[in-house]
Amino acid sequence: MADTTIFAKIINGEISCDKLYEDEFCIAFNDIASQAPIHYLVIPKKPIISLLECENDDKNLLGHLLLVGKKIAIEKKINNWRTVINTGAESGQTVFHLHIHFLSGRSMNWPPG
Ligand code: 5GP
Repeated sequence: MADTTIFAKIINGEISCDKLYEDEFCIAFNDIASQAPIHYLVIPKKPIISLLECENDDKNLLGHLLLVGKKIAIEKKINNWRTVINTGAESGQTVFHLHIHFLSGRSMNWPPG
């Protein structure tokens, strides 16, 4: 399932994106429908549907995704941001390929909607 999503197409280059970072494990790019002045996604190249499907073997990968997101934040000179991982349709997940949202540049509300 995760290997047929729009993000799989971004990973294999079929669809373009506003890329911020790429290495052998992940890719990061600006969200096409920004919900904040800064809104980018960090996604693994491995086709994992969501956090629910992650295993112990994915521990290093998950840490890597967060640290790549932080590295981009530092490059953008931001030190306040929100990270979001939607898991499942009811949580708001619309693309069924694991991704971490990084949002910044405005005040955030809590609790989230
Ligand atoms: P979700 O709702 O699954 O947590 O987040 C999916 C995110 O992917 C949404 O914020 C949506 O705007 C973004 N998105 C969906 N399709 C594309 C696309 O083709 N390109 C980019 N850059 N972002 C996309």
